[in-house]
Amino acid sequence: MLVAAQCGTTQYESVILAGGTAFRRAVRIESLSSIRVIMKKTNLIGLTVEELEAFVIGLGEPKYRAAQIFSWLNKFRVHSFEQMSNLPQAFRDHCAETASIVFPDIVTQQQSKLDATRKFLFKLEDGAHIESVSIPPREDAVDADKRQTLCISTQIGCPLDCQFCATATMGFIRNLTAGEIVGQVLAVQAASEKPVTNIVFMGMGEPMLNYDNVMKAVDVLTAHTGFAISPRRITISTAGYATMIRRMADEDRKVKLALSLHSLRDEVRRELMPITKKFSVNGLLDALEYYTKKTKKSVMLEYILFDGLNNTAADVALLIKAARRMDCRVNVIPFHSIAFTNPHGMSAELRGVKPAEIESFAAKLREAGVPVFVRNSAGVDIDAACGQLAVKNEKQKKKSM
Ligand code: SF4
Repeated sequence: MLVAAQCGTTQYESVILAGGTAFRRAVRIESLSSIRVIMKKTNLIGLTVEELEAFVIGLGEPKYRAAQIFSWLNKFRVHSFEQMSNLPQAFRDHCAETASIVFPDIVTQQQSKLDATRKFLFKLEDGAHIESVSIPPREDAVDADKRQTLCISTQIGCPLDCQFCATATMGFIRNLTAGEIVGQVLAVQAASEKPVTNIVFMGMGEPMLNYDNVMKAVDVLTAHTGFAISPRRITISTAGYATMIRRMADEDRKVKLALSLHSLRDEVRRELMPITKKFSVNGLLDALEYYTKKTKKSVMLEYILFDGLNNTAADVALLIKAARRMDCRVNVIPFHSIAFTNPHGMSAELRGVKPAEIESFAAKLREAGVPVFVRNSAGVDIDAACGQLAVKNEKQKKKSM
């Protein structure tokens, strides 16, 4: 909570943390005027039980109230303190005075005409926009009627400039808070009949650049007293932060990991994904090998096929060699046009390959004993397929990596 007060000739700002700890600073001298108080309430969405404990203790309540509030928010997904019927009325009133429950607003919900994909455009508290996509299950999935996979965003825009990605054209605006990440899931769940059973961090942004908030959101979403999704049903996809892959392994994170790979040749990958200038292909493979050995978990290698760029026999051979270094599955993905972003340079030159070539590329991997599956192009008619998320007209404020 931020309290600004003008007293005499000096204006003060007091920042009060969830636990009630406060610090105050003088911010500027102004002419004499009356005391003015502005309060910005703490949004409780995205707070862990421990953070909620600090909040309730700060309000003079016993610690166990935190678990009650956490369940109301994340399990029952209520929108007001008034609905928290097992809390004393006076405490509900006190909460409403000092805190808020703010979900991202669903501005539009687009439904694909080709499949069951739905794209959600959200407006955040500061007016910024992000997108999430509800992806239909594969038709042959055993539990297809019960599954809903949600692809969520972690940043507004992205600084990494991958040439095939529409989000990159927005530049980087800011990281999402844990509350804004969790809020996407809770808001889509409230707008869905089917439960959200799987979450992929493959929307706008590079999750590893917002690691703390992403992991906090994972902790909140997986807590058994809340949304209670299994960490095995959550996948975090990175463009290639080798150091963070190692960190995930060292921290023994239970979620799954995917790498947006797309080429095993440094010179090609550097052009396609400039992050390769920082982390070479070999450095990445070393990090993945470390991860798979340390965690005993498999990783997913994502590979978009581009005509004339990464689809030769030599490319297949390199991919097979890399896959044999670790426990992994390869996900071959068709390229989805980002022409709607008016791309230039390499982005404008990229072309996908025909479906038959995708199948033949995947078949060569299978013959070599590499587990592989081909991702379909769900949501392509509403620009909701892999690589197509971008908020049009969002203010661009590009920052360097
Ligand atoms: S693919 Fe991912 S990491 Fe690369 S620019 Fe797009 S959002 Fe960022």
